[in-house]
Amino acid sequence: MPEIIKNIDKKSEDRHQKIIVQKYGGTSVGSVEKIKRVARRIVERQKAGNRVVVVVSAMGKTTDDLVDLANRINPNPPSREMDVLLATGEQVSISLLAMAIETIGVPVISLTGAQCGIRTSDVHKRARIDAIDTTRIEKELAAGQIVIVAGFQGINDQRDITTLGRGGSDTSAVAVAAALKADACEIYTDVDGVFNADPRMVPHAKKLNMISYEEVLEMASLGAGVLHPRSVELAEKFDLPLVVRSSYNDNEGTLIVRKNKMEQAIVKGIALDENIAKISIMEVPDKPGIAFRLFSMLAKANIHIDMIVQNTNRANVNDISFTVNADDLQDAVTVAQQFAFEVEAQKVEFDKGVAKLSIIGTGIVGNPDIASRFFETLYKNGVNIRTISTSEIKMSTLIDKEAARDAMVKVHEAFELDR
Ligand code: ASP
Ligand code: MG
Repeated sequence: MPEIIKNIDKKSEDRHQKIIVQKYGGTSVGSVEKIKRVARRIVERQKAGNRVVVVVSAMGKTTDDLVDLANRINPNPPSREMDVLLATGEQVSISLLAMAIETIGVPVISLTGAQCGIRTSDVHKRARIDAIDTTRIEKELAAGQIVIVAGFQGINDQRDITTLGRGGSDTSAVAVAAALKADACEIYTDVDGVFNADPRMVPHAKKLNMISYEEVLEMASLGAGVLHPRSVELAEKFDLPLVVRSSYNDNEGTLIVRKNKMEQAIVKGIALDENIAKISIMEVPDKPGIAFRLFSMLAKANIHIDMIVQNTNRANVNDISFTVNADDLQDAVTVAQQFAFEVEAQKVEFDKGVAKLSIIGTGIVGNPDIASRFFETLYKNGVNIRTISTSEIKMSTLIDKEAARDAMVKVHEAFELDR
């Protein structure tokens, strides 16, 4: 075949090639065997006629081990140095995966976040991706290479290494897929997809075939540990369908897409967050501006607040309670005490023995039968509800942590999610 025709063929072929972004989590690349298996899977996908970009996390428990190591050296490691350290985990896995692919005889290149132009804000340990300059990735793809990208990391304006927060590789994958206008973004993990409850806690949890961004976002942010919440927000923003599936089999997985308006109100899943704590400020003067003052102090301290309740027990004073992530408890109590002192509230109490149990599904809040069944199930199991909060697609209760896992299984059964 004359040279020129070969080129033309190549070009037209290129245009028809799909770009697939795959992401493999830490467990999927947790050992030599697993890395080899993932390598074969990636090559198959490329041989099927696609351009493949792969985002990987650090192997197994590497990131936890690095955090541990840092804390043994310095109980308060500087965030900037923490990012330099944590980003090494992904550098190990991208290089090893590239080596594994190379043994199969397929052209491949690994790139760090900085090398593939992932620019982030400069908040260390929880940076946000601002932009991706895809020039390098595109150049490598055009050269026929499989591109392996380090998840979880980027660089800020000063070219310092940043990380995106624990579990952030999902977000790297979605951002890379959006920037490349990829045809698919597949998140490979050690389970078959998104379940209607955490299978480690609810034995009869079922895999969902399809779920909306909003629903999965609630599952993720309510502690179901499915996907990094930011990755789902990004996918929704760019209208990028996500597939979550197992790296161990060819099962279909779960497709995450925009909400189907025709869907009837139905409970899709249950989530339990055990890593929370409740803070109460007793006998706060009842006058305008008090809540504003408290929550602006908490906001300034960067503390994320969840359920808020204000009770009036007697004239002129209120009790204000709210929940925070258990990791923020110490900081939040300090702020609450300062506030209580300033406004002459009576005292600050806190409670770590609580958990948040939520049901999630489009349209559930407008449906009283669903609320009634949820609360009835808790009542019949002797579970006391301390606080209730609702949003358009979820209903959350604050209950005793001790009773929470059992209650979760019962609620799962009550909504027939085990069928
Ligand atoms: N390796 C990082 C972590 O363990 C990022 C990720 O796994 O997505 O949090
Ligand atoms: Mg993860």
